[in-house]
Amino acid sequence: MKLRALALVAIVAASSTALGAQAASKAVDRTNMDTTCAPCTDFYRFVNGRWQDTATIPASYPGIGVGREVYDRSLDVLHAILEDAAKTRGAAPNSNTQKLGAFYGACSDSSRAEKLGATPMAADLARIAAIRTPAMLQAELARQQANGADLAFSVGTEPDFKNTKLTVAALGQGGLGLPDREYYLGDDSASVKLRESYRAHIARTLRLLGGTPAGAADEAKRVLALETSLAKAAMPLEEQRDPKNIYHPLTVDSIARIAPGVNWKAYFASVGMTPKSVIVQSPSYLTAVGKLVSSVPMATWRDYLRWRVTDNASPYLSSRFVNERFTMRALLTGAKSLPPRWKRCMTTTDASLGEALGAAYVAKEFSPEAKARALAMVGNLEAALRDRISTLDWMSEATRKEALAKLAAFRVKIGYPDRFRDYSGLRIPPGASYYASVMLANQFEFRRQMAKSDKPTDRNEWGMTPQTVDAYNDALNNEIVFPAGIMQPPFFDATADDASNYGAMGAIIGHEITHGYDDEGRQFDASGALRDWWTKDDADKYDVAAGRIRDQYSSYIVADTFHVNGKLTLGENIADFGGLKIAYAAFEKAMSGRSRAPIDGFTPEQRFFIAYASAWRTKIRPETMILQSRTDPHSPGEWRVIGALSNLPEFAQAFGCKAGDPMVRGEAIRATIW
Ligand SMILES: [Zn+2]
Repeated sequence: MKLRALALVAIVAASSTALGAQAASKAVDRTNMDTTCAPCTDFYRFVNGRWQDTATIPASYPGIGVGREVYDRSLDVLHAILEDAAKTRGAAPNSNTQKLGAFYGACSDSSRAEKLGATPMAADLARIAAIRTPAMLQAELARQQANGADLAFSVGTEPDFKNTKLTVAALGQGGLGLPDREYYLGDDSASVKLRESYRAHIARTLRLLGGTPAGAADEAKRVLALETSLAKAAMPLEEQRDPKNIYHPLTVDSIARIAPGVNWKAYFASVGMTPKSVIVQSPSYLTAVGKLVSSVPMATWRDYLRWRVTDNASPYLSSRFVNERFTMRALLTGAKSLPPRWKRCMTTTDASLGEALGAAYVAKEFSPEAKARALAMVGNLEAALRDRISTLDWMSEATRKEALAKLAAFRVKIGYPDRFRDYSGLRIPPGASYYASVMLANQFEFRRQMAKSDKPTDRNEWGMTPQTVDAYNDALNNEIVFPAGIMQPPFFDATADDASNYGAMGAIIGHEITHGYDDEGRQFDASGALRDWWTKDDADKYDVAAGRIRDQYSSYIVADTFHVNGKLTLGENIADFGGLKIAYAAFEKAMSGRSRAPIDGFTPEQRFFIAYASAWRTKIRPETMILQSRTDPHSPGEWRVIGALSNLPEFAQAFGCKAGDPMVRGEAIRATIW
C-alpha cells in the first residue's frame, strides 16, 4: 500500500486482460481518420473518426484503444514464456522458471479448482468463525491483509515525505468492496440501485459458503452497513490529491491515543513491524475504525471478514466463485464475459511474479539500442523544459532556481531495473493449489513491504514491471520511469519519422516530466521531500492558471450526465498540456536542418499532432466511462486530445485554425503554465 498513487499515463484503459496477436499500428494512419471532419472543429474525430465508427469492443473488454493493442501484443510474448516454463521438466528447484511454471500451471488446472471448491480457504473461514474478541479480530485482520485482502484500513511502507531517504510505516484507509466512498453515500436512483445489486451480490457470495438464503441476506445487510460506516469516515479522493492532507507522522503511542479500539502495538507486531514513526493518511479515519471495532458486534465483523476474504479468494477458486464475482465487475464495467482462463492466469502471474516474468520478457523484447534512443529523447525533452523554465516571464528568480534544481536532479529509469527482484524467499511448491500459490506470493510481497520500515529507501526499486504498457513519475524519488513495455509502436517506432515519435512517445515523456510540476508534484523538491519552494506570488499565479484548466475540463461531458471531474483530473491535465508543449519544442529542435517535405499529405508539424491524437484513440463502454469519471485521475482519451490541443497556439498554427474555431480557446480563458 502506498498513500500516494504513482502519477501514471494510464494508457491501458481499465485493465483486465486482452485478446490475440495484432499487427503493430502506426502513429499516423490515414485509414483511422475522418477527413470529412475539419481538424479545427473536432481534432479527435478528424484523427480517429473512422476507427471510432468501426471498432468493436470484444465481449470481455471494458474498452479498447492503442494501449490495449500494444498490451495484447506483449501478452503473446508473455504467454509463450509461461507455456515454456510450465512445460519445462527439471527446472532448478526454487528457480524463477520453476516458480513461474508451478504458478501458471496451478492456475491452468481448472478441473482441480472445480473439484476443490471453497476447501482451499477452509482454514481461513474456520478462524474467522472463531473470532469472539477485538484481539482475535485484529489478529485475523493482520493475517488476511498479508493475504492481500482489503480490510478496514491498509498498512504498508513508503518514503517519509519530509525525509525521503528513510522509508517508514504507513496506515491508510481501505476495506470497501465498491470502487469509492461516494458509491455508498449517493442518494440518486442509480446509486441506490447499484447498492441493491451489491448487497444481493454479497448475499449470493456468502450463500456459496453454505447457510440459508434468509441468513445470507441478513449478513449482507449488516456488511453493507459496516462498509457504509467506513465510507463515511473516509477522505474523498479529491482531498487526497494534496500531499499535505495525507501526511500525519505519528508514533504508535499517539495512534493508540486517537484510535484506542485497536491494540496498535500488538497489531504492528503481528505484521512484523516495530515502527518508530508511522505516516497516517487520515487520523480521523483511524479514530472511526477504532470506534467501530469497539462498538460493532463481533458477529457483524465476522460477516464482514467472511465476505471480504471470500471476495479476495474468489478469482482463485471454482467457477461458481469466479462467475459470481464477475457479475459485479460486469455491472461496474459493462464487460459481457470473462476473459478466457489463460489470460486470467497471465494477469495473475504477472501481478504475483512480475519481475521474474519481466526478466524473461526483456531478454526477448528489449534492446540496448532502444534504451539509448529513449534516453536521448528524454534528454531532449528535459532540455526543452529547461529552456522554458529559464525564460518563463511569470516566474521569479527564487522559484526558477528551485525548479531548475529539481529538473537537474530527475532520476530517469528506462526499460527494466538494474537489479531484478530476488524471489528466492518465495516457495511455490509443486502441487500447491492455485489459491495457495497466490496467497504464498501475496504473503511474500507483504513481508517484503513490511521489512522496509525504518530502513534507507531503495532508490533502485521499480513501481511497475518491465512489461507494463505505461509510465510513471514518483515525486518522492524525483524520478520518471519508462518500462520496456511502452517502448513499442505506435508510441515509439525506430523506423518512423521524428514527428510520429515526438508526438506519441515524446508527449508521454513530457507528461511524466511535467508531473514533477503539477498541482501535486510541485509541492515536492529536488530531493523528493514535501517542502514549499514557491514564493507566494508565483504560487498564486500558478493557481490561477491551474484553476482555468480545472474549469475547462469540468465542462466536458463523459457519458450521460457525468462530467469530467476537473479537480480530480487536474494533475493529469496539467501534465498532458505541459508535456505536449515541451515535446513540441524538442521536436522543433530535432527538426532543424531536416527535410520538411510532407508525408501522406501532412507537414511534420501536422504529423506531430496527429500522432499525439492517435495515441489517445479509445473506445470505452459507457459503464466503464462512468466508473473512470468517478475514480480515475485521468480524463477520457477524447478530452485529453481536445482539452490539451485547444490551449496550444502551436496546434492552431499547424492546421490554420482561427479564433472562434471549436479547437481554439480564446486568450481570455486559455491557460498558460509552461
Ligand atoms: Zn499522468
